[in-house]
Amino acid sequence: MQLKLFLEEEAAELGVRLDNQAIDQLWAYKDFLKEYNEKVNLTAITDDEGIVTKHFLDCLTILPYLGQNSRVVDVGTGPGFPGLVAKIARPDLDLTLIDARGKKVKFLEEAAQLLGLEGVSCIHDRAEDRLKVPGYAKGFDYAVSRAVAAMDKLAGWCLPFVKPGGQFIAMKGPNFQEELDAGARQIAKLGGKVDKIVELNLPSDLTRNLIIISRR
Ligand code: SAM
Repeated sequence: MQLKLFLEEEAAELGVRLDNQAIDQLWAYKDFLKEYNEKVNLTAITDDEGIVTKHFLDCLTILPYLGQNSRVVDVGTGPGFPGLVAKIARPDLDLTLIDARGKKVKFLEEAAQLLGLEGVSCIHDRAEDRLKVPGYAKGFDYAVSRAVAAMDKLAGWCLPFVKPGGQFIAMKGPNFQEELDAGARQIAKLGGKVDKIVELNLPSDLTRNLIIISRR
């Protein structure tokens, strides 16, 4: 099956409608990522099918859990996963991308410009340092993060960004329970409470668990 059609259909299975503009932007993003990856290491996955299944479809899983017009921060976004993929599919989101590596943030700035995205801030900083900058702590409806750190550490980098009543969505693999147990005290100390765990099977045979944590 044609890869664009596959992406559209599999996204719909996840409850995400991709219009033609979103699909064209995702394609341009994929091509730019592959081109840039030749000079700066951004991803080990470089084939079209891998990028579509292991990056794009995986990143789209968070969308049904993000409210309309919400403010979202993606902590340790790397080349924009999951934040930039989510923003392309849902232009209503106000997105802040944070990464500690300057080269990755330069890529993000160029990608956002190339795609003509509005409402995207690309921040070169460590999450824990950015939290000290006025407006960041408790400044977001949602914090999201994929493949950045174990839950005990990650909770400390993500939950403080979330407003009371907002949520932190951690994208985790099959061994999440062990990590969650190890991070339970830290999560509680930060005013967090696990609301829901969503298990999803993706076409790449990847099992994705979304750990959704609310902040009091
Ligand atoms: N989230 C992306 C993904 O799923 O492909 C990137 C994952 S990559 C394995 C981890 C990223 O987290 C790196 O780009 C790294 O620079 C960033 N990172 C690690 N610790 C961080 C911190 N304390 N604050 C901000 N970024 C951090």
